[in-house]
Amino acid sequence: MRLNAKQIAACTGGAFVVEPLDARALVTGLTWDSRDARAGDVYVALPGERVDGHDFIGAALRGGAVCALVMQPLDEAVRVLATELGACIIEVPDTAHAVADIAAEWRGHLHGRVIALTGSTGKTTTKNLVRDVLASTLTVVATAGNQNNELGVPKTLLAAEQDTQAVVVEMGMRGAGQLADLCDYVRPDWGLVVNVGESHIELLGSRENIARAKAELLCALPEGAGRAFVNADDDYADFVREHARLDARRVETVLFDGSAAAAERRAGADAARPAVWAEQVELDEQGRPRFELHAVGFDGADGAEEGARCALTLRGLHNVSNACAAAAVGRACGIPLAVCADALAHAEPEAGRQEVVRARGGFTVVNDAYNANPDSMRASLATFCALDVPGKHVAVLGDMGELGSYAPACHAGIGTFAATLPLDRLVCVGELSLHIADAAERAGMEPDRIVRAGSLSEVFGDLDTCVEPGDAVLVKASHFMGLERVVEGLVN
Ligand code: ATP
Ligand code: MG
Repeated sequence: MRLNAKQIAACTGGAFVVEPLDARALVTGLTWDSRDARAGDVYVALPGERVDGHDFIGAALRGGAVCALVMQPLDEAVRVLATELGACIIEVPDTAHAVADIAAEWRGHLHGRVIALTGSTGKTTTKNLVRDVLASTLTVVATAGNQNNELGVPKTLLAAEQDTQAVVVEMGMRGAGQLADLCDYVRPDWGLVVNVGESHIELLGSRENIARAKAELLCALPEGAGRAFVNADDDYADFVREHARLDARRVETVLFDGSAAAAERRAGADAARPAVWAEQVELDEQGRPRFELHAVGFDGADGAEEGARCALTLRGLHNVSNACAAAAVGRACGIPLAVCADALAHAEPEAGRQEVVRARGGFTVVNDAYNANPDSMRASLATFCALDVPGKHVAVLGDMGELGSYAPACHAGIGTFAATLPLDRLVCVGELSLHIADAAERAGMEPDRIVRAGSLSEVFGDLDTCVEPGDAVLVKASHFMGLERVVEGLVN
């Protein structure tokens, strides 16, 4: 970002309580963590649950911040320090809101294309794939890690330069209206909905409501100019398209399809035909997909169908869909399909998402402990069982959060599914995960292969006795379960 103090005061509705030495000197970064403050930053004092950012203004200024945004009366010592250092302080009505205001202001200065993506499962993975595909050819700024909330989203915009060619913004949501609020200032040119699943059903009440909430991103696309990337293999694809009135608003829909039904859809009705899809999908012995990537209807190909071989480093069939989404965005940016395929092949997994690590005892651990919902749990189990190892497949599964009254049924669904897989041992930890264990048993999995662990030490106890060199252990649960401690215990 490059905004001066005067612009920041104006866009946040703030007033200087310590005037800048030079109101036109540029502010080049934003932080709300005083420990990260660097020369040229604006520091935003956010009221937190445990600590109040107003207590760290001095630290931020000493760290190099040239401006601070506050919403409380200022300590005299801080005022003196700011004056000594030549930094300015602006009092605003609401510091959290000011972050969005500054992002909105900076958005107006960006020349590049802003591409926002959301979905129930696989946002970060797909965001990274889109970033890597686009970075083959363009200058790109993308969301760092998983910073997809009301603070991370503005931060992504602010990290872009005026002439950055593509800005890729991951957007998370937990309720209706949240994506619309983010889109108010992100003003995406293009939007991608990775999928519509069941996560956050507790807050939204039904999958239809989840679909409506995801469609808010597509509703925000500019009439006659936007592009909407939609997963053709999603039950709610049509619903989302219609809800966002894409055709009526002349927003071009680009369908992608990484499923086995893609070839059939290609032969079907025009409106449901994917523009980017996968064929001949196979998994190698590590569960990494190899496939033919296809595209049709993009500029520069004269209507001809294009194809490229693609072999992913990422594991699991679900990543074929994520890869098709990224290739669709890349191809729409004019990047040749073979270049997209090459970038996809080199993409690495994020930590904690199906990350394969070697454990001390000579067995393999698949660390998927970062988070879980019913869709990713199924995808993860299927991917894990496709892993070719000489020994046993042992899954350690913990509770999935935010499912409300749907939780018992969702957990039971995982148990029923697990019983259909070539899984040698199922270790369930957590209260809700008892439903996984019970349903697996009802569905025919032998009781002596099912473990109901009451604590992490019981998990370790079981793994100690049953896991041998050559085995593979999957660890997956929602973040709050802290199952990364199981991974750490096995690896270190
Ligand atoms: P968050 O809500 O935390 O931002 P996210 O939507 O960004 O999550 P990722 O972090 O990319 O999702 O992936 C979370 C989990 O979902 C991982 O276990 C990953 O392997 C799995 N996953 C990724 N893509 C898909 C997909 N298309 N379908 C099902 N599961 C997927
Ligand atoms: Mg994410």
